[in-house]
Formats: sequence, structure tokens, C-alpha cells
Amino acid sequence: MAARVSRCFTITTRAYSSKVDKEVAFLGLGNMGGFMAANLVKKGFNVRGYDPSKEAQTAAAKDGVKGTSSIAAAVDGVDVVVSILPSNKVVLDAYLGKDGVVAHAPKGSLLIDSSTVDPNVPKQIFPVALDSGIGFIDAPVSGGVMGAQNATLAFMVGGRKEDFTRSLALLAAMGAKQFHCGDSGAGQVAKLSNNMLMGITGMATAECMNMGIKMGLDPKVLLDVLNNSSARSWSTEVYCPVPGLVPTAPSSRDYEKGFKNELMVKDLELASGMALGIRSPIPLGAVATQIYRVAQSRGYGEKDFSYIYQLLKEDKSKK
Ligand code: NAD
Repeated sequence: MAARVSRCFTITTRAYSSKVDKEVAFLGLGNMGGFMAANLVKKGFNVRGYDPSKEAQTAAAKDGVKGTSSIAAAVDGVDVVVSILPSNKVVLDAYLGKDGVVAHAPKGSLLIDSSTVDPNVPKQIFPVALDSGIGFIDAPVSGGVMGAQNATLAFMVGGRKEDFTRSLALLAAMGAKQFHCGDSGAGQVAKLSNNMLMGITGMATAECMNMGIKMGLDPKVLLDVLNNSSARSWSTEVYCPVPGLVPTAPSSRDYEKGFKNELMVKDLELASGMALGIRSPIPLGAVATQIYRVAQSRGYGEKDFSYIYQLLKEDKSKK
């Protein structure tokens, strides 16, 4: 085993020194991945993309991402694979399936998974990749679709330090900040902690804005007060759930092209599972999980999670 590890290290070290990480496969060209792949193209990387959605693949082609028909075709001969996919199962199948990434990516390549998943997912992929002479890091992101579009994402990385170092040129092309959080899975722990807090503050912002507006305050004035007071947060500054106050927020485009409510439910459920495993109390996280789940069961899973404001606002009671 020791010999195998040192052989892998030699392979990746050689890749750093030659600085030839130009050929990139990108898996998952959705709301986030489409912009991230386009930014890699803009920064001079040759990007081959794969997404089972023809619509996503066609949109990415307009940004210079070369379409492929399978994961195997996308990763053939590349230096680096980047993925951003919807769920634990999709990521595990994409990486460890018979026709998946690890089976087809070249020895010495580096795999970067930016999906938000259970920390046990990267912990399963990492040793299998290492066994094949391939590096793997979990590198979930924060910053939303706007961050993906403007290349201002924050990356939270778990894995070997040398793989983190090697990934920096690519991560810098797609984002503004990169953190090495620890061993494999540590990036996901940081990400789920962040998203649980984002879910809680998003819900809190929606209910406070709704209450203040119902009391007759001008929504603009109320938001201005919050943004200059102790309640200020990313939700009030960047992601206000009330339409029309922050022009770039999903609420101002009918809650489309944001962070889908169903993805928020997924992340809160992942965080809840993690907390349960270590018996860490999460009373507010548990309430937030249930509220977003109600929004999903009412049919708003595809809307941005800030749609919760519309649910709170709805009042059919007799006055
Ligand atoms: P999305 O649904 O818009 O995109 C996911 C894409 O993956 C889809 O286009 C889908 O067709 C594709 N896909 C599914 N199976 C695939 C496979 N086997 N191979 C290749 N592509 C496949 O979702 P999104 O908003 O882009 O989110 C993706 C991931 O990023 C999720 O894990 C989410 O939690 C995380 N994330 C999203 C945001 C956000 O604001 N949207 C922010 C941070 C993190």
C-alpha cells in the first residue's frame, strides 16, 4: 500500500511541474456548471462537456464547451475532470459506475467534484481513485448562480494538500476564494455547515421582511435598515426574497435560475444526517428543513429557495 501511495504521488508531482492542466472535462452543465465551464473556456482551458440534458449541452456549446455523448468520451485523455451534479447517487454513479469517471480518466489526472453531497461520498471515491493513480478532491462551492456567472465562487476543498495545490489554477478561473478544509470529505462538512446557516437566515429574512411589510413599512426602507443594522447578512444584501429590491436576486426574476428549493431541502437533509451521526443539536436547522420541505411538497421545488417568502406572505384567512 505504501508503495502504491508513493507511486501516485510521483505521478501527480510530475503533472504539477509540467503545468499542462489545459484539457478539462466538465460534467453537469446546469445552472451552476454551465457558467463554470464557460469561465474555464474564457480563461483559456479546452473544455469538453457532458450532460444528459440536450438543452444544457446546447447552451454550453454556445460558450465554447465541446459537447460529448458520454462520461467516458468526455474524460478520455484529459488532465482534469470537474463535476457539479445534483445528488449523492448521481455523483457515485458518475464516478464509480462501470462507465464512470474513475474507470476512464487517465492515470495522473485530477478529479474535482464541486457537487454538494454527503461527506461519505468523497470518502468512498477518494481511495478508489487513488488506487487507479488518480487524484480526487471534494470542492463544493458557495456563491450561487451569480457567483458561478461572475467567477466569484468560494471553493471548500477536502483531500490531499498536493491535489489542492494542483487544482488552484482551475479553481481560480471559476472563483475568487479557495480553502483547504482538511482531508477527503472536509470540504463537504464546511459546505453543509454553510448551507444550513444560509437556509436558516434565508427563512428568517423572509419572515422578518413579510412581518415589517405587513405592518406597513416601505419594503425598500426596511431592507435598507436591515442592511445597515445588526441583522445584515448575505440574505439581506445579495439574496433578498422580496421581488424587485435586489435586481440580481432570483426573487426579481420570478424565483428562477437560482438555488432550487429542492436542492436546499437536499442540503438540509444531508446536514441533518451529519448532525444526527455525531449527536450535534440543530433545532433551527430541523425547523428550516421542514419549512423548505413543505414548499417542495406544495410544488415549488423548482423555484429558488427564497420563494419561501411567497408562502409566508400568502394569507387566505378571513380578516
Ligand atoms: P441543476 O439541476 O441546474 O444542474 C445539474 C445538472 O447535472 C443538470 O443539467 C443535469 O442534467 C446534470 N446531470 C445529471 N446527471 C448527470 C450525469 N450523470 N452526468 C453529467 N451531468 C448530469 O443544479 P445546479 O443548481 O447546477 O446544482 C448542481 C450542484 O451544485 C448541486 O449539488 C447543488 O447542491 C450545488 N450547488 C448549487 C448552487 C446553486 O445556487 N444553484 C450553489 C452551490 C452549490
